[in-house]
Amino acid sequence: MHTLKNLPFDNSFARLPDHFYARVQPTALADPYTVSINPQAAALIDLDPAEFDHPELAHYLSGAKPLPGSDPLAMLYSGHQFGHYVPQLGDGRAILLGQVRNRKGESWDLQLKGAGITPFSRAGDGRAVLRSTIREYLCAEAMHGLGIPSTRSLCMIGSDEEVYREQIETGAVLLRMAPSHVRFGSFEVFFYRNQHERLRELADHVIAEHYPELQADPQPYLALLREVVQRTARLIAQWQLVGFAHGVMNTDNMSVLGLTMDYGPFGFLDAYEPGFICNHSDHQGRYAFDKQPEIGLWNLTCFAQALLPLLDPDDGEAAVAQARDALAAYQPAFVAAYGRGLRDKLGLRDERTEDQALADRLLALMQHSGTDYTRLFRDLATLQRNDAGMDGLLRDQFVDREAFDQWAGDYRARLHAEGSEDGERAVRMNRVNPRFVLRNHLAQQVIERAQRKDFAGVDELLAVLSRPFDEHPGMAHYAEPPAADARQIVVSCSS
Ligand code: AMP
Ligand code: MG
Repeated sequence: MHTLKNLPFDNSFARLPDHFYARVQPTALADPYTVSINPQAAALIDLDPAEFDHPELAHYLSGAKPLPGSDPLAMLYSGHQFGHYVPQLGDGRAILLGQVRNRKGESWDLQLKGAGITPFSRAGDGRAVLRSTIREYLCAEAMHGLGIPSTRSLCMIGSDEEVYREQIETGAVLLRMAPSHVRFGSFEVFFYRNQHERLRELADHVIAEHYPELQADPQPYLALLREVVQRTARLIAQWQLVGFAHGVMNTDNMSVLGLTMDYGPFGFLDAYEPGFICNHSDHQGRYAFDKQPEIGLWNLTCFAQALLPLLDPDDGEAAVAQARDALAAYQPAFVAAYGRGLRDKLGLRDERTEDQALADRLLALMQHSGTDYTRLFRDLATLQRNDAGMDGLLRDQFVDREAFDQWAGDYRARLHAEGSEDGERAVRMNRVNPRFVLRNHLAQQVIERAQRKDFAGVDELLAVLSRPFDEHPGMAHYAEPPAADARQIVVSCSS
């Protein structure tokens, strides 16, 4: 177990040449205090829980005091934002402290978000507000609890220092962790600058640190692209299955490890609405919920383009052909992962051609009725194969109950065809259909409490969302869909 002062930093990113980043010191928030610390993430870096009571914890974990061994820097990247290339972005308010290696040999980036301006801040203030910090802190852990790859949240530090957004708010710092924060945009910047040697250095670094098994491949860069295609396809299939809309799928927010990252105006579906747009600045609905799968491919195409000079330095056409071939694997990978996931949600063990149509019919009924996505799938586990008389809980979630009855009849026939057993099926379904997701109105409730300095709601919700498939007696209110008037929370990009 480590203390705050002897974390075993091994800063592989800072050992790269300095054209990948700018060294920068965090700017302390005034009088920082701990809002929440996440023991599960602390365990990933073997941080002794006794340290949670350290009188200067908030100083060390917000960047106000340097963590011994850290080597703070802001990473350079560019990216496509809402379809347009922006030549330079970079960490404008994130500061990478370095990598800590744990007992298992895993390396974890420790990154502050909201710790002051960097050379990449442009017009920004380098800060993050408590509101958006709580949302990212909780959602990253909720995703992890759901089994979806994500950055992790170590702790959240608050301050009474004012930060100006649409209104005056208070600042906060998130300390997040990931095996790497390298993005598609980290590659794009060197492609557009025509700096192919740097591109190669970065690719070699990512492969050595995160895809060591690809080093032996005769075409390691093509293998890297193929792997990122697979991971991204699987990641987005998982988002769709759980009803998660990211909101800002710019290529600078896409992880080369296939992690969910940079939580902004995200949202989980309440009522099933495929065209759901969670970001009120997204007027065209570019990042609507049902657009995410195709945007995933669009983003991967940008990433593939950035890798072209590495795929075949001498023959541009051959490089393009390789990239096309790698990208062609996206759709089948997505369809396979999504199809398997839908069957799991329906509790179907076997694979039959009519399954997709059965699922689509249910989704269409849900859309028509505005049925709550998470609740319906969770409740579906209570369906009895031989007793339609017990369907009340389910059919009450539909406007057209006869249409639901018809669907349920076909579903029963399908269950019968594979000899499905109610109890065993329910156990399987409850492992994939969560009881709890981070609904916007829940985030809003704990944010309002936290803004009054009552942080207990954050920890309580963290505990529930970390184990979203458990029932959590006494916490049923966190599973409730929003009241009708809370449904339309739109979230702004200003965070
Ligand atoms: P995002 O859409 O939040 O991923 O941010 C896009 C870019 O804007 C990134 O380069 C961020 O670092 C930068 N950025 C966002 N907010 C701020 C801020 N308050 N201060 C400085 N840079 C910011
Ligand atoms: Mg970002």
